[in-house]
Amino acid sequence: MDTKNLKTWAKKLKEFPLERNIHIMEVCGTHTMEFFKTGVKSLFPEKLHLIDGPGCPVCVTPNEYLDRAIEIGKTYDVIIATFGDMIKVPSSYSSLKEEKANGMNVKIVYSPIDALNIAKENPKKEVIFLGVGFETTVPSEARTLLQAKKENIKNFSLLSGAKLTIPAIWALLDAKEVNIDGFIYPGHVSAITGTKPYYKIAKKYNKGGVVTGFENYDLIIGTLMLLKIIESEKPKVVNEYKRVVKEKGNETAQKIMYEVFEKKSSLWRGLGKIPKSGLFIKEKYKEFDTYYKFPVTPPSSREHPECRCGDVLRGIISPIACPLFGKVCTPRKPIGPCMVSSEGACAAYYKYGR
Ligand code: SF4
Repeated sequence: MDTKNLKTWAKKLKEFPLERNIHIMEVCGTHTMEFFKTGVKSLFPEKLHLIDGPGCPVCVTPNEYLDRAIEIGKTYDVIIATFGDMIKVPSSYSSLKEEKANGMNVKIVYSPIDALNIAKENPKKEVIFLGVGFETTVPSEARTLLQAKKENIKNFSLLSGAKLTIPAIWALLDAKEVNIDGFIYPGHVSAITGTKPYYKIAKKYNKGGVVTGFENYDLIIGTLMLLKIIESEKPKVVNEYKRVVKEKGNETAQKIMYEVFEKKSSLWRGLGKIPKSGLFIKEKYKEFDTYYKFPVTPPSSREHPECRCGDVLRGIISPIACPLFGKVCTPRKPIGPCMVSSEGACAAYYKYGR
């Protein structure tokens, strides 16, 4: 990594000679934001196109999940603890924000352990943590649950909505709906998974990729590396983010994750049901499983008919192609989760890309 010569690298990216249109996908929602925020996207040569991927956990969580959480909040005397973004996401019929205004006990937390602390402080109340996230957040969920078991805390449970990134990339490639020449792989997720899972993508699908960090130099150098891989026509995986990501990932985090959770098929917004792409609490920890503790039958879920969030997450359209973008749908009045989340592509385009 050569940070001193950033201007030289930026110039190299801007002037990278491309004979054809190249489409690269950034899998991670934080990368979506950072490409805009750092101005690196504006350095792209004319024929280089960035496609936004399914890397925003709030965005890929289907309405069914939120509808269930709301139904639980209406049916049982519980405290719903959630990350801030989720509260604003429109569900099929309302949102947690709306339900909170109507008296539902909803609290914003910054980590699963915060939710556990609420449970300790309110022993007579049941506390439900909305566990939406990718590989990055699941280890801390698992750790919290083990802590609850160790301390014999009975009034805490987790509504698992965790998803795995790699099966979603396979699903995207299998669907063959979008032309992708290569991937910018997520830095945070890869810190847990390592770079190994991407080898299969290079081998089976002939798509190279680069794991990058989030600074401007990471994005510039990572993109240049990816262009060179694509140009070489020899798909491989390169790790630009070696200061954080190791080949085998964080094995301690993986171990704790799979002690508590197991893989099952999971429903994704825009991508449908993907086998082995969700993490659910194992039978032996079912006392902490909200699905088990608080059964409900939520009303049938529905999507806003004009929201194209699912197409944005599959990389089929850019947010600005959605007819509601910036007119009817804004961060103040979001119609879909892609406009709510701090990692959502619509929010990124609204903030930086208009
Ligand atoms: Fe959905 Fe709004 Fe994005 Fe359109 S701009 S796809 S309505 S979130």
